[in-house]
This record gives sequence, C-alpha cells and structure tokens, in this order.
Amino acid sequence: MLLNYKYEIFLTIEQQEMLNLWLAWCRQTYNSALLDKSNRYKGTKKILSRQELQKMQVEDKKKYAFLKEMPSQPLQEVFFRLEKALEKFFKKEAKYPKIKSSKDYCSLTFTQFGMAKQHDKKYNKTRTVRRAASLGCKGLLQISGLGLISVNWHRKLDGKVKQCIIKRQGTRWYVIFSVEKRNVSNTELDVSKTTGIDVGIKKFAVLSNGEEIENPKFLRKSEKKLKRQQRRLSRRKKGSKNWKKQLVKVQKIHTKVANQRKDFLHKQSFNLARTYSVICVEDLKIKNMIKNRHLAKSIADAGWGMFRSFLNYKCEKNGGLLVKVKPHFTSQKCSNCGNMVKKSLSVRTHICSKCRTILDRDHNAAINIEKEGLKQVSPLAS
Ligand SMILES: [Zn+2]
Repeated sequence: MLLNYKYEIFLTIEQQEMLNLWLAWCRQTYNSALLDKSNRYKGTKKILSRQELQKMQVEDKKKYAFLKEMPSQPLQEVFFRLEKALEKFFKKEAKYPKIKSSKDYCSLTFTQFGMAKQHDKKYNKTRTVRRAASLGCKGLLQISGLGLISVNWHRKLDGKVKQCIIKRQGTRWYVIFSVEKRNVSNTELDVSKTTGIDVGIKKFAVLSNGEEIENPKFLRKSEKKLKRQQRRLSRRKKGSKNWKKQLVKVQKIHTKVANQRKDFLHKQSFNLARTYSVICVEDLKIKNMIKNRHLAKSIADAGWGMFRSFLNYKCEKNGGLLVKVKPHFTSQKCSNCGNMVKKSLSVRTHICSKCRTILDRDHNAAINIEKEGLKQVSPLAS
C-alpha cells in the first residue's frame, strides 16, 4: 500500500517561476492528449493508447525545443493521470475528464529526486541551505532543473519513497512523498472490536453503538467567510489590481478551509481506526449522490470520499479492515427484527411496528451496516 507524507516547501522566486512554467507545459500536454484521444475515438472508434501518446511526445520534443528543458518524468506522467481519469470515468466513479485550466492543474510528479539533511557537508555553503536554516527547515530536496529546495521536515518519513509530487496550493507549495508500506495481514483480525458507521447530514456520522460525531462549527464559519470573499471577488473587474489582490485573499481562505476539513477528517478517522479493528461503511457512489441538489452541499462539506479513503489506509496501517457494504435498505430495515419500515428522508426516527424498536434513524442504519459488514468478513458468524 502507498501512504502519503506531505511537507511544506520554500522556493526561491526563480524556482517558483520554473515550476509554474512546467505546470503550464504539463497542462497543455494533458489537454491536447485529451483532445487527441476524443478525436481519435470519434473518428475511428479506436482508443489512442498511452504508448502512442508517449511516441507522439517524443516527436513533439524534436519540434519544440523548450519541452526538452524540463525533466521528462513529469511530462510522461501526464499520460498516466489521463489514463487514470478515464478509468474512473469508465468505472462510473467520475465524469468524463475536462480540459484543465491553470487553476485545476497544480501538481507535478517526479520519480527521480534526491533527499538530504540540511547539515550534509556537500551542501554546506549553498544559498538554499543558508535560507533553509534561517527558516528553520531541516530537510532538502534535490530535483534536476530546479536545484535544492528547502523542506519543512515536521515529521519523519517511514518506509521506502516511491515518488514525489510537488503541488501548488494557493500561494504555498508542498511536496508529497508516496511511501510504500507492507500491508499488515489481517489473519488475526479482532472481530470483537467492530463498528458500523452511517455518515449523516445533520451530524457528521453515527456509530452502531449510538455514539455521534458532530460536524465542526468552525468549518461552517470559515466557509461562510470564504463565500463572502468570493462574492467580493466576483464584483471586481477581472484582471485588475484589486481583483488580483482579492484572488490571493480568496485562495488563502480556501486553503485554510480545506486544511481545517482535512484535519478534522484525519482526527476522526485516526480515532476510529485505533479503536476498532473492523469498520463497516456504506459503499455509496458519491457522484450519484451529489446529483441530488438538496444533499449536495452537505455531502461535499462532510467530505465523505476523503473520510473513507483516510479510514481505509488508517485501518490497513493498524492491521484492521474497512468493509464496504451495499447500501440496500440500510435505513429502512429494522436492525432488531428485520422488518421493513418505509420512511422518507425527512423522518428522522425509526419506529418498528412489529418489535416496537425505537431508534434514531442513523443509529438504526449504522447497526444494519455493521451487521451486513460482519456477514462479509466472517460468513459463518451470523
Ligand atoms: Zn423491528
């Protein structure tokens, strides 16, 4: 399994300009490859493969000298990204990939890079090292064409690094290392520590023991602030000095909200993965749910997709298991006797006429999810 470690990096003006240029070239490569693919399919009903695209790129490099100025790995990786995006589309997990604007294309993947400690003698006198020291950074990253980059090494990397991604977020830059970790085998799963989770709308989630996780208020607050500033941005004249100023402001709040949300999800998933060894969740196709206008805001807010992927790798890391359950009737079925109690979304309480069970709607669903999940893990147990 791959784990990601993210660190902030501090770039010189020259490095930022260079990276922005590389991002632009990669984005153009992505967009033209996407168009080439669609045109080929429309014309001949055949699929343009990644290998063919790579060959075309070799030809392009002969024509356009500037493409040779940047490392070739991020350029080639563009085709892997496109391939992944299309795979997701064919699996019906995402929409057809879009032409990307500069604000949607903000990361580059490198497979070749060097890492060093700041006190490495080799780099002793360089400008970056002196700058890094003054910023309190302890790590260095070397990428050909960019030189040395100072990394804020706030936690230790654990495992073998496979690749690194350099990412622009608002006005800040980050490096994300993907690290290979051996899976802990789940032959010794402790099935006594299990739970089911129903992700809700009013509450963030409800567990099968009735425990509730609230949506954090601070998130709502920052989101309101973000909206206000976005409205202000839309009133400014595009491209003007004030517009640019406002844009930076909006980007900053945006990053803050995203970070706050992520932080909340990390904490919740960490606690759950530590407490339980089998966690059952609904296998919802998030894309389908977002189509429903009423639910859209809350779902996007709660970041279910991100939450589940956090849970997934955190369970794996601890030797636990995340079980995905088909969401059939989990909210309708009585968790006590199996009787079907039909109710619309607005009915928040489950009342069974057969066995007289009265439960919060989401709590009832969470119990059903756990039961279903356990059937999958140990078919003989239930
Ligand atoms: Zn019942």
